[in-house]
Amino acid sequence: MEIKEAIDTLKERVELIEKSYKRETMDYLETLKMAISALEKQISKTPDYEGDGYADGQLVYDTWICPNCGEHYEVGYHDYDYCPKCGQHIQHEDWERE
Ligand SMILES: [Zn+2]
Repeated sequence: MEIKEAIDTLKERVELIEKSYKRETMDYLETLKMAISALEKQISKTPDYEGDGYADGQLVYDTWICPNCGEHYEVGYHDYDYCPKCGQHIQHEDWERE
């Protein structure tokens, strides 16, 4: 099963539970939401990049920002595949930017 299918399945379940609100299913609902959030972090996302200077007339991107938690990291030194703070899977762009 693809991760996205699993997420969709869990979200359907969450909707069903929320429609028929019962106090005793609240823990189950929280557990499902945690599972969805954990799975979503496994789908890689491209971070935003920020530059603060120019070299040879080109903007140098020296900072990347986690798309999930907003943490800033230094390009070239902290190119993690997973954000150390929140666990988001990061898909770094290749650096042949215009
Ligand atoms: Zn993060």
